[in-house]
Amino acid sequence: MSMLDEKLQPMFEEVLRRNPGEDEFHQAVHEVLDSLGPVVAKHPEYADAAIIPRLCEPERQIIFRVPWVDDSGQVQINRGFRVEFNSALGPYKGGLRFHPTVYLGIVKFLGFEQIFKNALTGLPIGGGKGGSDFDPKGRSDAEVMRFCQSFMTELYRHIGEYTDVPAGDIGVGGREIGYLFGQYKRITNRYESGVLTGKGIGWGGSLVRTEATGYGTVFFVDEILRSRGDSLDGKKVVVSGSGNVAIYAIEKLQQLGAVVVACSDSGGYVVDPDGVDLALVKDIKERRRSRIAVYADERPRASYVEGGSVWQVPCDVALPCATQNELNGNDAAALVRNGCQVVAEGANMPCTPEAVRTFSEAGVSFAPGKAANAGGVATSALEMQQNASRDSWSFEHTEERLAEIMRNIHHRCLTTADEYGQPGNYSAGANIAGFTQVADAVLALGVI
Ligand code: GLU
Repeated sequence: MSMLDEKLQPMFEEVLRRNPGEDEFHQAVHEVLDSLGPVVAKHPEYADAAIIPRLCEPERQIIFRVPWVDDSGQVQINRGFRVEFNSALGPYKGGLRFHPTVYLGIVKFLGFEQIFKNALTGLPIGGGKGGSDFDPKGRSDAEVMRFCQSFMTELYRHIGEYTDVPAGDIGVGGREIGYLFGQYKRITNRYESGVLTGKGIGWGGSLVRTEATGYGTVFFVDEILRSRGDSLDGKKVVVSGSGNVAIYAIEKLQQLGAVVVACSDSGGYVVDPDGVDLALVKDIKERRRSRIAVYADERPRASYVEGGSVWQVPCDVALPCATQNELNGNDAAALVRNGCQVVAEGANMPCTPEAVRTFSEAGVSFAPGKAANAGGVATSALEMQQNASRDSWSFEHTEERLAEIMRNIHHRCLTTADEYGQPGNYSAGANIAGFTQVADAVLALGVI
C-alpha cells in the first residue's frame, strides 16, 4: 500500500500492528486516510484529540457461538459477529452479512465504511456491522429460521432502537429479517419495530427499502452525468452481481432509458445484446434461488461465460454491485480501453486500490461505495423515522426522499472535493465530508 501523509502513516502502522491479518480492514482504513492529509493540516485539533486513532478502534466488538440443528439432526456451529464501531452521530447502524467468507476483518472493514457512509446521508445514524460465516446457500427455510433464531438469541441483548439497529447485507434479505425480528420480539416481549430495518411492508417495513440501494446508486450516476451535461438515456451499462443491489440498479437503469447488457453471479456472467430481461433475473434469483447460468438457457440471443470477468464487456457505465475487491487493476484497464466513462460502486469496496488509481489516471468519474450505495442505509433511516412516528409513507414520497438524499450526497462530495483542491474527485469528497462530520461530533462529545 502506498505511503500516506507523514502525520497519518504512523497512525496507519498502528492500525496494522493492532489488527493483524485483517487485510480488508487495512484496505478500508488506508483508503480513507489517503484522503485526509489536507484535513489534518487544516485542523490540528483533530490530531490533538486523537480523533483518527479513536475512529479506527471500534467502540465494542462482540463475537459469539451460534449453535443450531440442521434438517438431518446434526448440530452445526457457526460464528456470529457484531462490531459497534462508532455512535457519535446516532445508534450504530449497518447490515448483517451471512456468507462463508465472513470473519472479523470483513465485519470491521464494512463497519468502518459504514461510519462515513452513514454520516454522508445527513441522517442521525452511527456505524456498525455484523454477520456470520453461515452459508444460507442450499439451506432449507427451516434451517435458515433455526440459524436466525439462534443468532438472535445472543444478539438481542446488544441491540435496540436507541442502541444498535441491524439490517440486511449479502445473504440477509426479507426472509432472514423476518426470522430475526420474530425471535427478538419473542425474547424481549416487545414489538420494537425500530430495532431492525428491512422489515416486510405489512409489519413495520418501509416502501422503497428493498429497491433503495440499487435505485440510489443509479440516482447518483444520473447526477454525475447531469453535472457533465449528459444523461443515462441510451447508455450501455454493465452491472456485476444479480442480488438485491444489482436487480434494483438494473430496474432503475431501465426506467431511465439505459441498456443493461450484462450481469453476473459468483459462477460467471451473462451477456444479453437485447438488454437484460429483468423479470427473468428476478425469477431465477429471488424465487428459484438458482444460478445466473440458467438465464442463457431461456434467452436465445444471450450467452453465458463461466468464470471470466464481466468487465471485459464494453460499456459506457460500469456498476460493480457484487462484493469487495471484485474489480481489479486489469479489469479497470479493460473498462478504460473500451471507453467506459463512469464507474459507481453499488457494493462495498468492490474496486481494488489499483482499479481506483487506473480510473483516476484515465479521467473516469469514480463514485465510491460510501457515497454511491448510501441509499440503502439512508432508506433504513427513513424506515426508523416511520417506525418512531408509527406512520407509513407512500412509495412516491419515500422514493423522492431517497432521490433528494442522493442528490445531496453528490453535491456534498463535489463541493468538499472543490474546497480541498481536488475538483471532481468523489473519493476525496466523500472521505473528507464523512470524516469531518463524525470528527466534529466525536470532539464535541469529549473523551468517552
Ligand atoms: N448493508 C447495507 C449497507 O451496506 C445497508 C445497511 C442498513 O440498511 O443498515 O449499507
